[in-house]
Amino acid sequence: MTPEIIDLLFPNPLPSVSEIEAKYPARQLEAGQKVTRVAPSPTGFMHVGGIYAALMSERVAHQSGGVFYLRVEDTDQKRKVEGATEVISTSLSRYGIFADEGVDKDGNSYGPYGSYTQSERKEIYQAYAKKLLEEGQAYPCFCAAEDLDLMRKIQEKQSMRPGYYGRFAKCRTLSDDEILEKLKAGTSWVLRFKSPGNNEKRMVIKDLLKGDINMPESDLDVVILKGDGLPTYHFAHAVDDHLMGTTHVIRGDEWVSSVPLHIQLFVALGWKAPKYGHYATLQKLDNGNKRKLSKRHDPEANIVYFWEKGYPEKALIEYLLNLINASFEDWRNKNPEKDAFEYPMSFSKISNTAGALFDFQKLHSISKEVVAKMSADEVYMAVLNWAKEYNKSFADKLEAQKEYVTSILNIERNIGKKSRKDLIKWEDVESDISYFFADWIRPDLNGYKDELPVSEEEMKQMGADFMAVYNKDDDKDSWFKKVQEVALKHGFAADTKSYKEAPQNYRGSIIDVANVLRVLVTGRTKSPDLYAIMQIMPEDLLATRL
Ligand code: GLU
Repeated sequence: MTPEIIDLLFPNPLPSVSEIEAKYPARQLEAGQKVTRVAPSPTGFMHVGGIYAALMSERVAHQSGGVFYLRVEDTDQKRKVEGATEVISTSLSRYGIFADEGVDKDGNSYGPYGSYTQSERKEIYQAYAKKLLEEGQAYPCFCAAEDLDLMRKIQEKQSMRPGYYGRFAKCRTLSDDEILEKLKAGTSWVLRFKSPGNNEKRMVIKDLLKGDINMPESDLDVVILKGDGLPTYHFAHAVDDHLMGTTHVIRGDEWVSSVPLHIQLFVALGWKAPKYGHYATLQKLDNGNKRKLSKRHDPEANIVYFWEKGYPEKALIEYLLNLINASFEDWRNKNPEKDAFEYPMSFSKISNTAGALFDFQKLHSISKEVVAKMSADEVYMAVLNWAKEYNKSFADKLEAQKEYVTSILNIERNIGKKSRKDLIKWEDVESDISYFFADWIRPDLNGYKDELPVSEEEMKQMGADFMAVYNKDDDKDSWFKKVQEVALKHGFAADTKSYKEAPQNYRGSIIDVANVLRVLVTGRTKSPDLYAIMQIMPEDLLATRL
């Protein structure tokens, strides 16, 4: 390519490649230290799979004593959304996934290898593109959208591989004069990579997660610089992951087929390619069939879903670690007190063959454990913070009655193995504790006929009988004796043993009686410890209920 052409293609002064290399010196790493990154596009949407991937990369880097950084890949300006960087950065920090270098929520880069926003690195990509051009490893392409459309149609019709290669790569063979003529006529252009590959030849790529993959070489002359002067994903990946010193690229498996091309780009630029690991997209069960968890069809694909429902952040992290490495659960059982981030995640144990299945049942059982370990104060604060954003009237109630709510949340909490494990997410708390408030309306007592062997009238009578003898100062034993008195008065056994020995003598057992009282007070046949509930509930409210 003549200097005249190069000047026409790149009229503005660019930093020299050596200047750039001096500004981005190789990282000084000790043996085994890994550098990974998460590289989302700012689309305003954070997929739960994005957190899964970020967590994987973060753990790999930090467990090795290396560096984890965030790069915002915004070279597709059409997809860019206002405020999207904030979504990315706050989503990560909310889950305790901290990038050592990257972009903060206001879009500002921090760290020595910045800018970490691709659109701010235009000159860098251009400098390397120009270098490839000078070396004859790239060329300008003037094919219009219609030309490319036609090419695609021909390829389809003839069942050929799609893409710009071989005889379809028309601009590859333009002479300098033809190029000059087009440039002088102001024809718009893109820059293409001159692929050295041969599609008939095969290569083996070593994938950290998928193992060895045998693939054809790439012979595609892909676009490296677009019409707007910004790079494509492929080119930016090579330039950035080199300059930023990434050692391990962990990314979605939609990129696995591009590895042969990416390796070519690294070689063309004179660099060592990083190691690659491609993970499969999270899956879900849909009518018994596994399919991708989709941004378009599944509300739970959006991380915001978990915020709205109030899933504790720790629960999601534990769940995702469990998806990443099946041995997490074992480790958790052996180390109940440790922080999840202390779990030694292993690359080789990443279950990746078919794509991890996102399973709410498992998430819920993990969440119950996580919430059970929190103190009442912690739960109160978490629920309040959630409610301030998603349930304002409940937040007001919580703030007005902090002590009362905390004591409600404290029932059967932090008492070892027997601790309550019924709370999954903050959204559920309002209805869970609703019966503690005067504005609660008890369901119709006739609705319990199947569960309780008594009429509505009798239930009320039992309630009144109990209230007549109830004394808040009673300890649990004395309290229970009074429940027994009511049982005997109404023809129920005072303990389960007597009932089992001669059921024909009774209308039911003490359990039925306790459940009648439970229903009167809470509207449900399953509740936390009834004695504790009565201790906490204001006496006038209890009297009304009973
Ligand atoms: N921006 C790319 C994506 O969102 C990043 C892939 C990568 O990690 O290299 O798919």
